[in-house]
Amino acid sequence: MSINKSKYLVIGSGIAGLSFALKVADSGNVNLITKSKMSDCNTSKAQGGIAAVMSSNDSSEQHKKDTMIAGVGLCHNDSLDALVNEGPERIRELIDWGVEFTKQENGEYDLTKEGGHSQRRVLHKADATGEEIEESLIKKVKDHPNINIYENRFAIDLITEHQVRNNLQSAFNVCFGAYVLDKESDNVDIFRANFTMLATGGAARVYLHSTNPEVDTGDGIAMAYRASVRIANMEFIQFHPTALYDPHNKPFLISEALRGFGGKLKNGNGIEFMKKYDKRLELAPRDIVARAIDSEMKKDGSDFVYLDMTSLNLSEVKKRFPTIFKHCIDYLNIDITKKMIPVVPAAHYICGGIMTNMSGNTSMHNLYASGETAHTGIHGANRLASNSLTEALIFSHRAALKILNKKFENEFENIEIPEWKDDGKLNPNEWILIKHNTKELQNIMWDYVGIIRSRPHLNRALRRTQMLYDEIENYYKRTKVRDSILELRNLTTIAYLIIRSALRREESRGLHFMSDYPDKDDKFYKDTII
Ligand SMILES: Cc1cc2nc3c(=O)[nH]c(=O)nc-3n(C[C@H](O)[C@H](O)[C@H](O)COP(=O)(O)OP(=O)(O)OC[C@H]3O[C@@H](n4cnc5c(N)ncnc54)[C@H](O)[C@@H]3O)c2cc1C
Repeated sequence: MSINKSKYLVIGSGIAGLSFALKVADSGNVNLITKSKMSDCNTSKAQGGIAAVMSSNDSSEQHKKDTMIAGVGLCHNDSLDALVNEGPERIRELIDWGVEFTKQENGEYDLTKEGGHSQRRVLHKADATGEEIEESLIKKVKDHPNINIYENRFAIDLITEHQVRNNLQSAFNVCFGAYVLDKESDNVDIFRANFTMLATGGAARVYLHSTNPEVDTGDGIAMAYRASVRIANMEFIQFHPTALYDPHNKPFLISEALRGFGGKLKNGNGIEFMKKYDKRLELAPRDIVARAIDSEMKKDGSDFVYLDMTSLNLSEVKKRFPTIFKHCIDYLNIDITKKMIPVVPAAHYICGGIMTNMSGNTSMHNLYASGETAHTGIHGANRLASNSLTEALIFSHRAALKILNKKFENEFENIEIPEWKDDGKLNPNEWILIKHNTKELQNIMWDYVGIIRSRPHLNRALRRTQMLYDEIENYYKRTKVRDSILELRNLTTIAYLIIRSALRREESRGLHFMSDYPDKDDKFYKDTII
């Protein structure tokens, strides 16, 4: 076991973790750990773009109003003000850091319009915006002498007073860093820090169909929950209406920008259907489009619907969506300018998460959270497209500012942190059970806690996940620590938090649709806090 000390511990290498690291690194050393390769994260997958008011036709008021409408009344006013007033500055900073967004021939940024936005305000780099941002930030982070990067390190649990109780006289509710599994050596090391930033991304892998990469298993939220940190609004899961239907390969998103460009949704009989559901047609908010597709699929028993781009300007489609064009050819041999694209809804984004204040501080001292793992109050009951990358930048910046302006006293320097105890045995025969249990959990969540929910279904899901949880805890305690068991344990916690939050909200609002409570109820005009 090794003990790694730093002023800052950053867990996660997406936009939230990397931008925070860059902001604080001049003031002290940073240990940045990440579960896999640096670029394995949701950020790299973002296609559509990043939203902010960047044109004179647009205004902060309009951006705020659009976000609030999507969030169905649950967005926090102060967070929205931060989003719309600070977004443009944070994006200019990204540009200064080397990120290149697509421009028009006249040199102006090519702003696109996505579902729920009343104006063109989404900057993009063709259809690979996230990759451009991630690669630029990785380069900056690698160049900074104060940032130490640790790949293939899995944060297991936060170190809090729970672990150091015997050595602690007066302090309570403080984070001292994290226990971290080195996936290459199988050792568990202590990463000790004065300030810990959880930037562990999303949790949509808890569902059978998801757009998220394998690393986004809600670890930060689960760790924070185990440490008794407050968690909010876990019931609001955004299902992206259009993931590519391709059961044999990794998930791939068919960006909303294709619908913004004129793509039409058609059912199995090739008939357009969005006019039956919403007057904004294909550009209605994601929850409405996802429910419409779900309902069309249920009607004709099909596994997918189609997105039709074939009547649009062919060379423009290829130019604007090169990644999607190539992916469809490479994996399904579909030329999207000639054939319709099979699409299906998939769990995409979690609006809730670890509760933070306006400085990214959680309910635990010295523990911060930013990005998709956090609940900052921006998204309310539904996230407006392309607001999440902006949110991560804003709250990582705010957290850094708060810490940098703090009078820093290292009052816990002498506290001893116990070693990780790992007495478990490795039993390779049982690893297959973990795979099966993960699938079972994902199926339960998809079948009973998906796009359309009901109390009986949620209760059934709760009973079944509780059984799974007991089994997994038992297994966790007697087995040598491994990433697959850690992920399953965290996913089960995420499932529990989603189901419990969903059961509390006896209404339908935004992304949370209950068939037995189909209307909004002002009794629930508040966050669900656990
Ligand atoms: C396909 C797709 C398209 C999207 N398109 C857009 C878009 O166009 N615009 C937009 O605004 N948003 C979009 N989003 C959402 C957006 O990409 C994410 O919300 C955002 O990138 C989250 O950034 P993050 O830094 O919080 O997390 P991530 O980028 O997911 O990074 C999380 C990091 O934490 C690490 N990690 C996780 N657990 C652990 C652990 N236990 N120990 C160590 N490290 C850990 C991971 O390895 C990873 O490095 C999209 C998402 C997806 C999946």
